[in-house]
Amino acid sequence: MIIAKFGGTSVEDAGAMKNVQKIVAGLRDRQPVVVSSACSGVTNTLIGLARMALVDCAKSLWIVEELRARHQGILNDLFPGEPAACETVGVQIDAMMDELRDLARSISILGELTDRSLDTFASFGEKLSTLILSALFRKEGMEVVLVNAQEVVITSDDFTRAVPLFEEIAPRARRLIGEKASAGYVVVTQGFLGATREGVATTIGRGGSDYSAAILGSVLDAEEIQIWTDVDGMMTSDPSRIPSARLIPEMTFREAAELAYFGAKVLHPSTIIPAVQKNIPVRILNSRRPHVKGTVILGSPKLHTDAPVKSIANKRGITLVTITSTRMLMMHGFLARVFEIFARYERSVDVIATSEVSISLTLDSEDGLDEILGELRKVADVEVERDKAIFCVVGENLRRSKGTLTAIFGALERNDIPVSMISLGASEINVTFVVNGSDAEKTAQLLHSTFFSP
Ligand code: ADP
Ligand code: ASP
Ligand code: MG
Repeated sequence: MIIAKFGGTSVEDAGAMKNVQKIVAGLRDRQPVVVSSACSGVTNTLIGLARMALVDCAKSLWIVEELRARHQGILNDLFPGEPAACETVGVQIDAMMDELRDLARSISILGELTDRSLDTFASFGEKLSTLILSALFRKEGMEVVLVNAQEVVITSDDFTRAVPLFEEIAPRARRLIGEKASAGYVVVTQGFLGATREGVATTIGRGGSDYSAAILGSVLDAEEIQIWTDVDGMMTSDPSRIPSARLIPEMTFREAAELAYFGAKVLHPSTIIPAVQKNIPVRILNSRRPHVKGTVILGSPKLHTDAPVKSIANKRGITLVTITSTRMLMMHGFLARVFEIFARYERSVDVIATSEVSISLTLDSEDGLDEILGELRKVADVEVERDKAIFCVVGENLRRSKGTLTAIFGALERNDIPVSMISLGASEINVTFVVNGSDAEKTAQLLHSTFFSP
């Protein structure tokens, strides 16, 4: 059994969905379980329409009509001249749109939008795309079962970032998905969505369909998890910013995890965890160019390479917080105190560097920051710098190779790019540092040309 996850651009319109159908047809003898995202941009639109309902109900209802037109349009393009085939799915799309209108009206009347309601709005995107996709598969003669992910992926009630409960998911996935796939059906289900034990809609975090694929792959003991997207695979840098970025044929779970965590959004960072636990290869492939071999992510490498650097990722819009103890001594108690405050506000930090009296750390959003700063200032002097960028240079051979650090920081120095913070040693395979946001573009170009010059 294999899991084939298709991202938003891979199901953005009728043409893209036809490509998906052909790809899945080619996977028939491997018992494919298809996990799909919403059509590209739809999750953002749904969240936007929910927020709009609070301020302008008429406008939000208008957005619902745009969504209706887009999905009905895809359906009509897929079934030209087949009104009967179109009709049953069209009726279901209409019913979902009417439900969305009701939801928007109730938000407008109540004047309140909770994370719980947001998840209900967001859940429509994947339900719509999978409804259309499964109809297309059927039309092409496949025996399809459309499984509602909300009956399988049981999660905590941390709305918008719900935590999957594997022990609940495993038996459901085996019964509702595994058995069907083994019996020869093509299973189609939604990424990103889950539900609490009580059946309330949840989502597992933005970009979470990759994670859904990995969760299902893990509980179903899949032989491979395929992530079909709009680029050829994991590249040496984000190809939308560095056009000369090259495809990486193979990388380790550790390398992929560091890259995903530090900004390579081609893979959701949590995806790697279930894959590692069961040692299931993850393959990144391009749904527009399915003949390209893509990137395979494995526990241990099969190909030999001496190159010190595999890839470079960066994350922008970072806040750097420097905390200096006002009571110079007792660093041990100070560290505990500081991290207890971050833990209490459920905030994780990305990069940390410490000295005898101070700690520098980075945050990728300012959620809860005011409250945290209030608490920290009771025990320390705190300095906050905004609009920073984290760079993460990754490679299994990084530490063994000579001169890599000199190459990185020498290039930055020669180009007058100041470095605010360096983290080295926490993981053997990466070097992480922080620069000003205004230097991010230049740094990205510079590092890429330093390690991957044509
Ligand atoms: P999907 O909708 O299929 O989930 P995403 O937009 O989430 O796709 O991820 C694919 C995008 O990730 C690419 O279009 C690319 O711009 C970006 N990306 C960032 N870093 C990298 C990288 N190192 N290699 C490949 N793509 C990357
Ligand atoms: N549709 C969801 C999002 O846009 C999940 C995903 O596409 O991975 O965040
Ligand atoms: Mg994605």
